[in-house]
Amino acid sequence: MYADVILPLPFSDLYTYSVPVEMRNKITRGSRVIVPFGNRKYYTAIVYKIKESASNDFKIKEIHSLSDSKPVVNEQQLKLWEWISFYYLSPLGDVYKTALPSSMKSEDLKSKFKPKTETYIRVNPELDPVNITGIIGRAAKQLSLYNQIEIILTYNKIEHISKKEVSELEGYSVSVLNGLVKKDILQTFEVETGRLNTAIKPTRKPHPLNEFQQKAFNEIINCFKSRHTCLLHGVTSSGKTEIYIHLIEEALSTGKQTLYLVPEIALTTQLTQRLQTVFGNKIGIYHSKINDNERAEIWNKMLSKEPYEIILGVRSSIFLPYQNLGLVIIDEEHEMSYKQQEPSPRYHARDTAIMLAHFYDAKTILGSATPSLESYFNTRNGKYGIVTLLERYGNILMPEIQIENTFELRKRRKMKSLLTPLLIEQMKLILENGEQVILFRNRRGYASLVECEHCAWTPKCKRCDVTLTYHKKRNRLNCHYCNASYTMPAVCPSCNSENLKTLGQGTEQLEEEVERLFPEYIVGRMDLDTTRGKDAYEKIIDDFQSKRIHILIGTQMLSKGLDFENVGIVGIISSDSLLNYPDFRSHERGFQLMMQAAGRAGRKNRQGKVIIQSADPDQPVYGYILNYDYDGFFNSQMAERKMFNYPPFSRLISIVLKHKTEQKVEDGSEYLAALLHQSFGDKVKGPSKPIVSFIQRYHLREILLKLDYSFSIKKTREIIRSAETIFHTKEDFKYVMIHFDVDKV
Ligand SMILES: [Zn+2]
Ligand SMILES: [Zn+2]
Repeated sequence: MYADVILPLPFSDLYTYSVPVEMRNKITRGSRVIVPFGNRKYYTAIVYKIKESASNDFKIKEIHSLSDSKPVVNEQQLKLWEWISFYYLSPLGDVYKTALPSSMKSEDLKSKFKPKTETYIRVNPELDPVNITGIIGRAAKQLSLYNQIEIILTYNKIEHISKKEVSELEGYSVSVLNGLVKKDILQTFEVETGRLNTAIKPTRKPHPLNEFQQKAFNEIINCFKSRHTCLLHGVTSSGKTEIYIHLIEEALSTGKQTLYLVPEIALTTQLTQRLQTVFGNKIGIYHSKINDNERAEIWNKMLSKEPYEIILGVRSSIFLPYQNLGLVIIDEEHEMSYKQQEPSPRYHARDTAIMLAHFYDAKTILGSATPSLESYFNTRNGKYGIVTLLERYGNILMPEIQIENTFELRKRRKMKSLLTPLLIEQMKLILENGEQVILFRNRRGYASLVECEHCAWTPKCKRCDVTLTYHKKRNRLNCHYCNASYTMPAVCPSCNSENLKTLGQGTEQLEEEVERLFPEYIVGRMDLDTTRGKDAYEKIIDDFQSKRIHILIGTQMLSKGLDFENVGIVGIISSDSLLNYPDFRSHERGFQLMMQAAGRAGRKNRQGKVIIQSADPDQPVYGYILNYDYDGFFNSQMAERKMFNYPPFSRLISIVLKHKTEQKVEDGSEYLAALLHQSFGDKVKGPSKPIVSFIQRYHLREILLKLDYSFSIKKTREIIRSAETIFHTKEDFKYVMIHFDVDKV
């Protein structure tokens, strides 16, 4: 008997081992096993297939041990892994590595996963209580502690008490307790307590839906009768979350599990509380800021007889072992952060979650105020159903949007700060009224460029071909590509001039400026630099919600579906930078970001305000934003995409080659492009130099494949794989790395 297993290695999809006799009745597909590999190395592997025979019998090693009594990966998960590996051109081992919490795949023999335990204390049940005082003798402190414990146990009718509680008793000390344990009067033992909080009780029923929400809810239920996937296109603040809560209730009532996906950890923070008030401990939270042992516990709970009925999480939560998934909610489905960039597999969590739902025969609801062009296109061609919700919840009006021409204002010397005079004036009014302000700037740090005024020297990263961003508070220059950090020179290293100027203002500079303009108000900042700690998001969001912060400055992180009640005005600073980068999706992204940012403004019964600062306000995209015209924007973009054959009219596969020698990557990319050209012809674009073509000491070249949707994925995969094999058998290119990014965003 043999087993094909998945190892966390990228070389081959499967590895064959023989199954020891004693394991034969226990091992199955999805089992976790420990196997030897190479010289004296062991790996945790997942059994993919059990089989009767194997070729090359003499070379085959034996499985060392079986880790659990039951499989830890179920059939649907394995199907999903296979699909990801197939579609995203990624080895199964990479998918396995991404899917399992690290403590479950630790490479040493003893599992790294340590259950959390608590020490308990009991009275030795074999002792006669009458004799105890005799044994204790004249140790008065021991007697006192013993008596207190005895009283608590008797009074509460319990057998044992936690050491923590004992330590709080009067006259307690470690030596007194140890004395009693040494005399075998008291005994200690460990109890596995788990890290998961199971005591949360629901405090409310779902709120009744208003007439518009109810109509949307009914339409969704109706849509699910004929379709698996439905898009809920609901404007910002239309109360989509409450509709989801009712859909979850519906799933629960039929005994089905729900997966609720959000694009950012920051969003789980706000949603957790809200969902817990309705669903209590039925809900589990899963994302990367949860420690690894806790993630392993959640995984195990999902395999148990009492799994979580609802999982709220970011993209990694699609990998959990669901038992009877019935509903998948993908909120803010347009967010590009659903796509994994590094490492492989570069999967899109939205598209993968739809596939996951398919394996469970579950329904998927996609939600957004600004749907991705792909999803909206899928409703037009009938693949998805669509439900539209145009009314904001509780009579909140859509904010009034105004565009300020900073180019004109600069010409007339009216711009004395990063903010236009109108925005400053409006902010003053809003703040005096007790309302709050949100300012967006899609660039973190203090300045994106430092330049010598004398010789035009600018600091660059030694490992990447990018200029460094200046972070003033830390007085460091940082590379936003590889995170390298450098000291800020006091004088120009090239000409010794002291005049180093900064250009391109980031969030840190905006914060400094706003603090100067509004000294009497508290300013907060939310970007990658301020949210590194585990609870950092929570703290900023909480401070803003409870009005300890009056003005919140942030990057796009702040636009993603966070709900605040008291925001009177939203300012978008340098909006053009959102539109002006060379990518066919830049306008889609800019439109979504600005509409989403605008959606943060608004209070009950009072219209919110949005001011967009642009130096080029004649761009057509601003017209669609001013009029809240999603359809108009969609149609104009689709015309362009069609003309240039971009997604959703084609499938885009990016192939990136990496090597430390530029010539090698140059020659290699030419060679690979030629190989691909034999099968794909003019669908092969490039090779070309990416905008940043040197990252972390590696030179990069990119080849793009723009394939028709009708072209078979299987065929595509075969051609690419065979080209890759031929490429790597060439001595010259053996060590040139190739990365695939299917449906690149
Ligand atoms: Zn200089
Ligand atoms: Zn760098």
